[in-house]
Amino acid sequence: MADQVNTLPFFYGNITREEAEGYLKQAGTGNGMYLLRQSRNYLGGFALSVLHSGRCYHYTIEREPSETYAIAGGKSHRSPVDVIDYHSQETDGLVCLLKKPCNRPKNMQPKVGPFEDLKEKLIREYVKQTWNLQGAALEQAIISQRPQLEKLIATTAHERMPWFHGTIAREESEPRLQNGSRTNGKFLIRQRDLNGSYALCLLHEGQVMHYRIDRDRTGKLSIPDGKKFDTLWQLVEHYSYKPDGLLRVLTEPCPRPDGETGLIGRPLLPRDHPGLTSALQNAAGGILSRLKTVPIPGRKKSQGPRHNTTDNLNPYETRVPNNQAGGKEAMPMDTEVYESPYADPDELRSSTVDRSQLFLEDGELGSGNFGTVMRGIYKMRKTEKSVAVKILKNDDNNPSVREEMLREANVMQQLDNPYIVRMIGICEAENLMLVMELAELGPLNKFLQKHKQTTIKNITELVHQVSMGMKYLEEHNFVHRDLAARNVLLVTQHYAKISDFGLSKAVAEEQNYYKAKGHGKWPVKWYAPECINYFKFSSKSDVWSFGVLMWEAYSYGQKPYKGMKGNDVMQMIESGMRMDAPMNCPQEIYEMMRTCWTYKADERPGFTIVEPRLRDYYYDIAQ
Ligand code: ATP
Repeated sequence: MADQVNTLPFFYGNITREEAEGYLKQAGTGNGMYLLRQSRNYLGGFALSVLHSGRCYHYTIEREPSETYAIAGGKSHRSPVDVIDYHSQETDGLVCLLKKPCNRPKNMQPKVGPFEDLKEKLIREYVKQTWNLQGAALEQAIISQRPQLEKLIATTAHERMPWFHGTIAREESEPRLQNGSRTNGKFLIRQRDLNGSYALCLLHEGQVMHYRIDRDRTGKLSIPDGKKFDTLWQLVEHYSYKPDGLLRVLTEPCPRPDGETGLIGRPLLPRDHPGLTSALQNAAGGILSRLKTVPIPGRKKSQGPRHNTTDNLNPYETRVPNNQAGGKEAMPMDTEVYESPYADPDELRSSTVDRSQLFLEDGELGSGNFGTVMRGIYKMRKTEKSVAVKILKNDDNNPSVREEMLREANVMQQLDNPYIVRMIGICEAENLMLVMELAELGPLNKFLQKHKQTTIKNITELVHQVSMGMKYLEEHNFVHRDLAARNVLLVTQHYAKISDFGLSKAVAEEQNYYKAKGHGKWPVKWYAPECINYFKFSSKSDVWSFGVLMWEAYSYGQKPYKGMKGNDVMQMIESGMRMDAPMNCPQEIYEMMRTCWTYKADERPGFTIVEPRLRDYYYDIAQ
C-alpha cells in the first residue's frame, strides 16, 4: 500500500498537521481542497487534511485489522485512495466533499519519517541477532517475513532508543535527568508495570515532571486525555514537535547510565535488561508477546529469539499443530527447520544416516507407492532432530522403485533452501530409508481443506514462500516436474516447504530443459502444453504448475479441473480456455495465475518475475 500511495501527487508522507495546513493554505482558498499524509500516530494509517471556509480539517484514515481503511467510525474501503474517491461523492460526516487534490510542489518527494530511515537497519540487525542468521538465510528470512518484522520492529523499536530506560522506579529516574546537562525538555521514558503502562519523565525548570502513559483496551498509548499512538516512538516524535498539553516540548533524550546513547549501530540491549522482555511482552499486538504463550511446532531450542519466552515449553506442546488462533504469528525462523542442517559441519558430515541413531515413532505421516513415511528422531552429535522417514517397502519385484528413491535423494542432497524440504541422509538398514526434515502439518491442499478460515493473507504468505523455493530451484537449474499443492508441506501454518523430488531433474545450464523419453504416469492437470506435446520440461513449465498450485491454494484445496479427464483438460488449454478464478480470489492473484498459464513457454514469466510480483502483493495486503 505504501508504495502505491507514495506515487500519488497529493501524498506528502510524514509531514505534520501544521505543515499540511501550510501547503493547503498556500495552494488557495478552494473549498474541498485536500491532501493525504502519513499518520504520525497510527502504524500504517494516513491522515486526510481538507480545506473548508479558510479552515483546515484533519481526519485519520485508520488501517483496520481486516486490511481495509476507514475514517474512524466510517465506511471501510480497500485503500486510502478508495476512501478519497468515496468522499468525493459523499460527505458522509466530512466537512465537505473532496473536490481538488493539493499536489506536492514540483520536485518535492513525500517526506520520509524518521522511522523509515531506521527500519532497514533495525530489521537486519534484529534478524541477525535473534536467529543468528547470515548470508542467504538472513536475506530469505527478511524477504518472506518483512511485514511481520516491520510490525515487530515498529512496536519494539523504542527499546533501541536512548530515551527508553526500562523498568526503573520514579525515584531512580529523577537523578538520571538531573545528572549532566539540565536542559529544559530533557526526557526519558520508563516502564511502570507489566500492563503496558509507561511514564514520560520531563525536566522543566530544574524539576522532573512525570506523565503517565497508559495503554487502552485497543492497545493505543496516550498521556491522560492526550492523543493516542500505536507506539512509544510515535508519541515521542509527536511531543518533540509540539507540547500539546505537556509543560514543554521534548528536547534532549536523557541517556541511559550504561552509556548506550547512540541509536544506530549500538549493540542490542543485553538479554537480561529489565526493560527488554517486559517491554516486548507488552508491545501492542506484539508478536513476541504471543510467542510467549503459544506453543510452536518444532520450535528451535538452542537459538530462540533473544527474549526466549518459549524455552520452557513441554516438548510435547511443541508438537501441537499450529492453529488459527494460536500459532498465527510464529515465523519460519522460529522453527528448527529454517536453518540448514548442513550449517554445522560437526553435525551432518555425511549423507549416510546411522540406523542406531534413528528412532522411528508410531504413526504414519503418509504413504505412497514406494511405502510409508514415518515420523522419527535422529540423534546427532550435539542435538537431536525430529525427522520424516520415507521407508521403501520391501518389494524384490520392483528394483526401479529403489532406484527412483535414490535418484530423489540425490537431487535433494544438492538443494539447500529454507523453503525446500532438506534431506538429512539415506539409511540402508532393514529397508532403504530416506531421512528428511519434518514438515508436520502435512500437505497444503489437505490443510486448507480442513482450515477454511485461513485468510487470503496467510495463503499468500505460503504461496509466496513456495515461489521463493522455486526461484532457488530455477537459479540452480533444477526442474521439479511435480509441483502441486499436495507436494507443498507445511511446517507451521506460516511456513511452507516444497517436497517430493521424485520426478525432479537437474538441467544443463545451456539447454535449460529436460526432454523426457516418453510419457509416464504424469500429473497432466499440472503440466504445461509443451510438457504434454513435446515432453519438454523447464522452469517455465514449473511456472505453469505453480499457477495450478496457486489455484488449488486459493480454492482451499479443491481439485483443479474437477471431474475432467486429462484429455479434456488438454483440449481446453489448446482452445485457449483456462480455469475460472476460485471463489473470492483477489483479482491480482487470478491475473498472476493467468500469466503462469501463458501458452508459449518463451512468453511465460520465470520465477525471477513471479516471485517479486507475488512478494509485492503480499507486502501490500500484509503491511
Ligand atoms: P506423490 O504421489 O504425491 O508423488 P509420493 O508417493 O512421492 O507422493 P511423498 O509425497 O513424498 O510420496 O510422501 C507421501 C506423504 O507423506 C506426503 O503427502 C506427506 O503427507 C508425508 N510426508 C512426506 N514427506 C514428509 C515430510 N518431510 N514431513 C512430513 N510429512 C511428510
